[in-house]
Amino acid sequence: MRIEEYKDMIYACGRCEICRGFDFNDRCPEIFTQHWESSTARGRMAIARAILEGKLEYSEDLAERIFGCFMCGRCREECKKAAQIDVIEITKAMRQDFVDHGIKIPEAGTNMADTVTSSGNIFADTPEVHTKWSEGLEFKKDSGTLFYPGCLASHRFKEKTNILVRLLQKAGYDLNFLGDEQTCCGTPYWITGKMKNAKEYAKTFLKKLQARGVKEIITPCPSCFRAFDEEYPRLLGIDKFPIRVRHTSEVLEEIVVKKKLKFKPINKKVSYHDPCEIGRYRDIYDPPRHVLAAIPGVEFIEMSRNREQAFCCGGGGGCKIMYPDHSQTVSDERIRDFVKTDAELMTTICPACEMNLTHGMYEADLDIRVLDLAELMAVSAGIVDPEILEPDYFPED
Ligand code: SF4
Ligand code: SF4
Repeated sequence: MRIEEYKDMIYACGRCEICRGFDFNDRCPEIFTQHWESSTARGRMAIARAILEGKLEYSEDLAERIFGCFMCGRCREECKKAAQIDVIEITKAMRQDFVDHGIKIPEAGTNMADTVTSSGNIFADTPEVHTKWSEGLEFKKDSGTLFYPGCLASHRFKEKTNILVRLLQKAGYDLNFLGDEQTCCGTPYWITGKMKNAKEYAKTFLKKLQARGVKEIITPCPSCFRAFDEEYPRLLGIDKFPIRVRHTSEVLEEIVVKKKLKFKPINKKVSYHDPCEIGRYRDIYDPPRHVLAAIPGVEFIEMSRNREQAFCCGGGGGCKIMYPDHSQTVSDERIRDFVKTDAELMTTICPACEMNLTHGMYEADLDIRVLDLAELMAVSAGIVDPEILEPDYFPED
């Protein structure tokens, strides 16, 4: 069993409650939706311990507890003050154990991974749809810098992704693009426990990138960023991914620091949602705030739960697909955090967060735009019309 590798950590859990919080509502999105002790990190450690001791077996009944985790990392962050247990890696190991034992996992998770295998992306779209966002853009085939949007930015945010590339190019970045050869990064495999597929996929993908002479990847998606930068080296058994990988938060900050663009005022009150996979997973908290501070006129208002304490958007761990109702419940709660700020615009820098928070705004019947920070920067740099900030604006996606 994979969880045997984490035996010491599992036994280190002292059931201290720090991970789940004391009123159950402000930390873990899984317990926020399921209300079971077994839905918390400490509950999961107890389950793992019972499995290791042969007192419990992996079963379909357990699936909702293990696959219902948003992998938001809040418990891991809190556990740094307690036993420093890597709950995320243990959750991934448990999901792999389900698959390795042939136990049924949520059907939508299996379908998502199978769709990547059969079509190369999570939406089963054709390459023509996959590349539609790039219409009207020119890429440099000999550039070693690859712009890699990932599935969500390619398929659900065509206009935003087009704007982002225009922004980067105006700032002087020469970008290449995989075109018809672009596929998913492979994240659906490891969040659904399909590690054998993941290893093969990572090997093939790295070969493809090296054959194209890619020296650097820039991506707006925190999952893709972590896929190449963290998961691939683990899967391939290497210390470091041989290609430099940067999330756009770092690149937008570079544009500000190196004064690559001039900015005009945007007189709006703006809040910002920290995506779990660049925030808690990678400590990227300051670059997005530096970008907001660099745009004149912006009045930045933090939500009460921010940075390490940010509440998940509801999109993590595959829950958006496997447990859409839970996902909606969590995004509704995050929108309540936003409403308390009295801000006029919600920003983030992750396509999955942007999609979930947008759904949350619709659900709450709020006429408020959720934007990527790159869009705000593009407006301020005069690359795109300020109408995209207006509440009644609908992107052509
Ligand atoms: S914070 Fe860590 S040690 Fe404490 S209950 Fe949670 S997982 Fe266990
Ligand atoms: S990763 Fe997030 S959703 Fe999963 S148990 Fe930890 S706090 Fe809860």
